[in-house]
Amino acid sequence: MDFSQLAETMLALESTKSRNEMVEVMAWLFKQQPPDEARFSVYLLQGAVAPPHAGIEVGLGEKLVEQAISKAFGYSQKEVQAQYLKSGDLGKVAEKMCSAKRQASLFSEKLTIKKVFQTFYRIATLGGHGSQEAKIGLLAELLNNASPLEAKYIARFPIGRLRLGVGDPTVLDALSFMHKGDKSDREALESAYNKCSDLGLVAESYIRDPESIMKFSMQPLMPVRPALAERLPSPEEIAKRLGKCLVEAKYDGFRLQCHKKGDKVEIFSRRMERMTNMLPEVVSAIRQLKCKDMIFEGEALAYNEQTGEFYPFQQTIQRKRKHGVDEKAAEMPLRLFAFDLLYVDGKDISQEPLHARRKMLEGLIKGSQLIAPSESYITSSADEIEAHFQDFVSRGLEGLMAKDLSAPYTAGARKFAWVKLKRSYRGELSDTVDIAIIGYYAGKGARAQLKFGGVLGAVYDPHTDTFQTIAKVGSGFTEEQMKALEEKLSVIRVKKPNARVRSLMEPTFWVEPKYVITVNADEITRSPQHTCGRDSGDVGYALRFPRMVGDVRTDKRPEDATTVDEIIGMYRSQRRVERNVQEEQ
Ligand code: ATP
Repeated sequence: MDFSQLAETMLALESTKSRNEMVEVMAWLFKQQPPDEARFSVYLLQGAVAPPHAGIEVGLGEKLVEQAISKAFGYSQKEVQAQYLKSGDLGKVAEKMCSAKRQASLFSEKLTIKKVFQTFYRIATLGGHGSQEAKIGLLAELLNNASPLEAKYIARFPIGRLRLGVGDPTVLDALSFMHKGDKSDREALESAYNKCSDLGLVAESYIRDPESIMKFSMQPLMPVRPALAERLPSPEEIAKRLGKCLVEAKYDGFRLQCHKKGDKVEIFSRRMERMTNMLPEVVSAIRQLKCKDMIFEGEALAYNEQTGEFYPFQQTIQRKRKHGVDEKAAEMPLRLFAFDLLYVDGKDISQEPLHARRKMLEGLIKGSQLIAPSESYITSSADEIEAHFQDFVSRGLEGLMAKDLSAPYTAGARKFAWVKLKRSYRGELSDTVDIAIIGYYAGKGARAQLKFGGVLGAVYDPHTDTFQTIAKVGSGFTEEQMKALEEKLSVIRVKKPNARVRSLMEPTFWVEPKYVITVNADEITRSPQHTCGRDSGDVGYALRFPRMVGDVRTDKRPEDATTVDEIIGMYRSQRRVERNVQEEQ
């Protein structure tokens, strides 16, 4: 299919804020396409050339794109830069210069979706001596063959500025819509996606044969979307909801999903990035486990070999690095506390009850020095849950996880199969909230020099694929953090809010939703100023006295921010606790 049709689709997506319209536009595109090409379209529409776990990113700097524009259209680099400074959008610069080319193309070839995808894929995978020049050449060739509209999106793509507002839920709805005319296949599509984490693959299979998605199963070396925990405010509520349950220590390290297929091992982070090369000692411990293939999960923590003490998260996270891996591994070896087994020796066991999975897991890791089962107890008593909670917290752990012994593994979903209970202090929420930064404020007064006054934060609604504001956060930052954030945010500024952002507020600068930070607050309140969970009465939810804790969450994508449903759940349980306190008084 011609790339012009994808460019037209991108234009239609960019021009609407109606989600239904977005779904229809994409469904129309998928309907016209052969299955393998739909896969390319899915990646391209999401600004990528492969699923996140493949670790293949185009990521060209703006300077290189400016050079390619200059080369393709016969303008000097200075002229390209001047135009860019004026419009703030390299896509628009390319569109304009393409329609007023100063040099005629020697020969020109109509662009197809396949050609554009393959060229970007090559750009992403080229390396070594002379690769910069080659990348500029490839991009210039694409631009040279493009119409002005195509040039706009081709220039935006490699710098991550497509701004189409197409999240995973919107693509899943569009796929269902193309076959069914409604969302009735969404759940089945999502379930297939949860098992392979590759939206392109799901699209290709579904378009080829809609029945095929029912047959998707987990495969070692393909990351599974992680199960997530719900919250309950007290041990009593946990005991009431779960009955007899597995209570586990909640470790504050990083979550690892470990895959083994024969001798081949892959390790993925919570956001499904490949971490295999960063963790050599974990890789060899997994390789030694006595089974042919497996997928299991655990939380890794760095510890001091001399004293046996575990390091706090800020230290552990230093193991997430590309360089100096061996030195850091020697300085801060990891322990991996395994808590779930999803697949073993050719069999997807994720639908078996937790107690059976756990038993198999314990058998498989027995004897490993580095991998140990998470500390766990079975109980149905609220008093015992409370006692374990106090014990864990006094040992510096984050709190506890209580798990339903009979539940399957709930890939990609936040369900009551897992419940978290975290330590909190008086006057704080029972859990922190992860917000996606959608804008920021220029500093005033004492902060003028830092050019940073705080951020506008949003939570995510997967039903509508939108980011809804919940707080302006101006405190909790160190001076270093403010400087670092301003640096990060200033390069992703955009003139108008991203199509997925719902906001009644106007920050000094809008930014692409990219970074997530964790905030604590005194409580959740109702507020007409914020769009989070806004109901017909025009009242949303807001955080009272929010402050940043920790650092930027590199393990979360904006879509992994706390969800609107979670905020509403937290608000309700806060009300329940308030009522109980009042009754006790
Ligand atoms: P979430 O993962 O729920 O979006 P989050 O990343 O902020 O939120 P928490 O809310 O603190 O994390 O709790 C869930 C996380 O706790 C898991 O993703 C996992 O990394 C970690 N964890 C620590 N110990 C355990 C355990 N025993 N079982 C499951 N998860 C655990």
